[in-house]
Parts: sequence; C-alpha cells; structure tokens
Amino acid sequence: MSIAEAGMNAKGKLRSLCLAIISVFLCLLTACQPHKTVQRVNTTDTAMGTIVSLTFYDLPKQRENMGEELLEMIRSLEEDILSWRMPDSRVALINQNAGGQPLALSEELYKLMVDCRDVWQRSGGAFDVTLGTLTSLWNFDERAMTKDGEQLPTKEQIRLALSYCDMGQIQLNETGVCLGQGQKLDLGAVGKGWALDELRTYLDNLSEDERPEGAIISLGGSILTYGRKPDGLPWKVAVINPKDDTSTLGYLELEGMWCVSTSGDYERYVEIDGVRYHHILDPHTGYPADAGLSGVTILSQDGFLSDALSTACFVLGKEKGMELAADYRVEILVVDKNGNVDMSDGMKRFFHGEENLLNP
Ligand code: FAD
Ligand code: MG
Repeated sequence: MSIAEAGMNAKGKLRSLCLAIISVFLCLLTACQPHKTVQRVNTTDTAMGTIVSLTFYDLPKQRENMGEELLEMIRSLEEDILSWRMPDSRVALINQNAGGQPLALSEELYKLMVDCRDVWQRSGGAFDVTLGTLTSLWNFDERAMTKDGEQLPTKEQIRLALSYCDMGQIQLNETGVCLGQGQKLDLGAVGKGWALDELRTYLDNLSEDERPEGAIISLGGSILTYGRKPDGLPWKVAVINPKDDTSTLGYLELEGMWCVSTSGDYERYVEIDGVRYHHILDPHTGYPADAGLSGVTILSQDGFLSDALSTACFVLGKEKGMELAADYRVEILVVDKNGNVDMSDGMKRFFHGEENLLNP
C-alpha cells in the first residue's frame, strides 16, 4: 500500500468515525427530545342520558382528538349494545325477543350478563337488571326531566310489573339469552361503569407514544382515573353531599387507575304530594328503595363492580351494603338520611373530609 493510499484510508476511517459519532449523537438527541404533547385537553358532551367529561393530560399531539374519539366509542356502546331505548341495540333486541328463542350473545355481553346475575344472587335480589318493566312504569327519566310528578303508579300496576322482575327467570348460557315473557332489561345501574372498563382497556392497549400520561373520565355518577397528572399530585374525586348536591362531603385522593361510582336519591326523582320518589327501586317492593340511605359511593378498580354495587348497596342499606362491599372486596362510603357518613376501613385511607371541591 502506498503512503498516499494509507493516508486516504486513514482519512476515510476518520470520516466514517465522525459520521458514526454524529449519527449516535442525533439519535440520542431525538430520543431525549420530549415528543410533542397537548398539556390538558377536555371534551364535554352528553351520552347515555348524562353528562360525559373526558380530560387528558400530556396527550400526544397526533392523538389530540382522543376526547371526540372516545365519546364516539361511548355512543356506539350505547347504540349498538347497551341501550334499552334505542331500537337497534343488542339489549333492545333481547327485550323485543322476550319469551321467544334464545338470542346469541357476544362474549363481552355474555360476561356482562353473567356478572349482573352474580350481583343479583349475592345481593339477595336487591340488584336486578330485569326490572325494566317496572322502571318503564315509574318512568323517572322523563318525569324527572319534565318535573312532571302527576300521580303514582297504582299498587296493581306495580304488582304486575314486579311479577316480570326476576333475574332467575331468564335463560342464560354461552349459546344465548332469552328473557321470560313480559320481562325487560334495564342496564341503567351498570352501563356507565361497564363503559369505563371498555375505555380503560382501550387506553391500556395504546402504544406508549399514543397514550396520555393521565386521564380523568366522568360518565354521570361514574368516574375513571387513569395514569398520573403531570404535576405528580393524586387525583381528587369529589364525594357529593346528598343533602345538598351543590356541595361536597369531601374527596377521595387516588393514585393511578380507579373507578368511583355514586348512587343517590338526589340524582333523579319526582315529587308527588310533597313526597320524593327517587329512581333506585327495591325489586322486593316495587317502590323506591327505603333502607335509610341517601348516597353510596363505591371505589374499585373494576368499573362494572363500582357501578353495580353502588346501586345494590343503596337498596340493601348500611349494614348489608357494607357486608356486600366487603364480600366483593371493594371500598364503600355511605351517607344516611340524616347526613351521617360511614365507610369501610379501606376507604378511610382515600377519603378526606370537608374540602368543598364544587365551591372551593
Ligand atoms: P345508578 O344507581 O347507577 O342506577 C340507577 C338506575 O338503575 C335506575 O335509573 C334504573 O335504570 C336502574 N335501577 C334502579 N333500581 C335498580 C335495582 N334495584 N337494580 C338494578 N337496576 C336498578 N337516561 C335518559 O334520561 N335518557 C336516555 O336515553 C338514557 N339512556 C341511557 C343509556 C345507557 C346505556 C345508560 C347506561 C343510561 C342511560 N340513561 C338515560 C340514564 C339511566 O336511565 C339512569 O338514569 C342512569 O343510568 C342512573 O344512573 P345513576 O348513576 O344515577 O344511578
Ligand atoms: Mg350504579
């Protein structure tokens, strides 16, 4: 090899080395650069007959429409699967087919029905999603909105509607479901919590560079906290004062993923002759549940359970409700009709009294 060739080789090697160093440096620079995010973005709208609010923190720029996307997802869960009012949903079809041949169920809807049956059994029938004929009779959703109390259903109407309310009458197995003649499903007590589970699964399945750092999603009385806020502080979820729903009793301080659902006698009701009739019904009497409670809040990592059990425990009352919550290993807070608050030992770790988050 000539000296000139050797010189060229040395120069070439030096150049390659420099290029390699520059590329490594550039790669490191790109890796260290935070990917572009939107700090906080909120979408608020209505679905499932209630207000939906979705807030994301540090949302990757390319996914900044995630609020609208998830809202669409909630609406299609309602329209395609859960709604007992929209004629083309699966649940509406099941209702139309009552007394007929079994209808096939998707895996997810089968699991939801089995889980509902489990809560029905373990609550001694206090929770029963086959009370659709009874809830149609009371028709709280429309009456509460129009403030039209008018008159009570008659005892005879209630007795008849109650005869259709019994989860034990439905045929349910992997091949399908069939309601008894006259029976009707109403998933108002579980739909929002179950939808939160679907949203959480969606977020979990996103790749890391598409997922927000944190999110808080509220579907009426059911709330999902997810991930973390950029300031590193815990999520604060208000516990509404059932005696005055413009104020709070305190808040739950939560880290990471949790579902919180509240059922209360102040949510939907009508007043007839000075008496308040609220929307959580006792399937044993056919009348609004009257077990001494005004509000129940359940904390769980499972959205379905938080929603189903807030309703079930409201119907059961304090002692039995707290037993059922312990049985399912969820945390519970109850407020009785006089405003007294009681809670499971586990809930005490999360609950902070007094600070009013609605009117700070
Ligand atoms: P929860 O305690 O969680 O649930 C109470 C509701 O559960 C009652 O309203 C009744 O539907 C049912 N229920 C009552 N007692 C029992 C019991 N013992 N066991 C089991 N279930 C019981 N509202 C509208 O006004 N218009 C709509 O179009 C509409 N569509 C909806 C669609 C979906 C998919 C869902 C999930 C809800 C919808 N809603 C709608 C709201 C619904 O009617 C209820 O008012 C709402 O779900 C009550 O929720 P909550 O958190 O206040 O109380
Ligand atoms: Mg509920």
